[in-house]
Amino acid sequence: HLPSAPLRARAEIDLGALRANVRALRAQAPGAALMAVVKSEAYGHGALQCARAAVDAGATWLGTATPEEALALRAADGLPADVRIMCWLWTPGGPWREAIEADLDVSVSGMWALREVTEAARGAGRPARVQLKADTGLGRGGCQPGEDWAELVGQAVRAEAEGLVRVTGLWSHFACADEPGHPSIALQLGRFREMVAYAEGTGLRPEVRHIANSPATLTLSEAHFDLVRTGIALYGISPSPEIGTPADFGLRPVMTLSASLALVKQVPGGHGVSYGHRYTTPGETTLGLVPLGYADGIPRHASGTGPVLIGGKWRTVAGRIAMDQFVVDLGGDVPGTGTEAVLFGPGDRGEPTAEDWAQAAGTIAYEIVTRIGTRVPRVYV
Ligand code: PLP
Repeated sequence: HLPSAPLRARAEIDLGALRANVRALRAQAPGAALMAVVKSEAYGHGALQCARAAVDAGATWLGTATPEEALALRAADGLPADVRIMCWLWTPGGPWREAIEADLDVSVSGMWALREVTEAARGAGRPARVQLKADTGLGRGGCQPGEDWAELVGQAVRAEAEGLVRVTGLWSHFACADEPGHPSIALQLGRFREMVAYAEGTGLRPEVRHIANSPATLTLSEAHFDLVRTGIALYGISPSPEIGTPADFGLRPVMTLSASLALVKQVPGGHGVSYGHRYTTPGETTLGLVPLGYADGIPRHASGTGPVLIGGKWRTVAGRIAMDQFVVDLGGDVPGTGTEAVLFGPGDRGEPTAEDWAQAAGTIAYEIVTRIGTRVPRVYV
């Protein structure tokens, strides 16, 4: 962290809120273990700090996309050696031997992956923990039902008999769990049950069967099975406005993004503001310069729409968001240089939320928090 950086901008991470969110999610799914999804630096909040806090509050699994993310967690201090870590983005030639040696659970969606992981296990001299992924309808990763699933399961059974693999999990992922009542939800659940039943019928005895992400954890108890994989809800953000607000589920946003006004100046009416002059001052006014830009992850699509709390009032981004800075029109107010500008936070100090920014930018709150760049120091409280 640059020593002067906190004066420019900061992302405050409330680990107490994260712990409370873990407890609230465990109460939503009391019969299931909780996997804290901490991929992509815990959706921008800091992987290691969030992983530690989540485990502290009762998460027994950590989930990442890449094996590199999972290996970094396993190598880090401050996590119990027995915490299970699963990575699901299998790619050819990945560090599968290291993953096996680090006791990671590796997801496998097809024969190519299973062969590569099995070979790595032969080299490591110990079985790989493998979780077979079923495509129950997401149409992304995962093995197709029917013959493909039968072939993958059959090969996994043989690899288990040879001592090269231990099938620890059977799992899948929803396409539309954030749209309660969407017909694909029931279809995916039904297919998941069938694919699990087939695999268990061949003698596989997985420790965990799982399909629920945050929206399914919050709204669909029949999807909880043995484990729920929560990402966005852990960070206190609702998966979608349709599902409800974070407060509806006892969740509190973890990240507060703020900056210090770097310049406050008077300008006459008719003054063009920022690149392209997409905003012109309607009369004499005060402009404030917020030292954050799209290089910090502030979405350029929120030019002219993004909300900022300054001096107790919501202001809107005036003109285009640039790489490192944007401007707000402060109207008749003249706050001092250095005044705090809060882009988003829990909302209870009157500030906008990450959902408000998502709406302003035409995206989802997942993208808002995940893209906050490394130039913005995270301050843990
Ligand atoms: N499971 C998998 C496989 C994922 O890719 C993700 C994230 O996209 C999650 C769980 C967590 O989803 P959410 O953030 O909606 O809880």
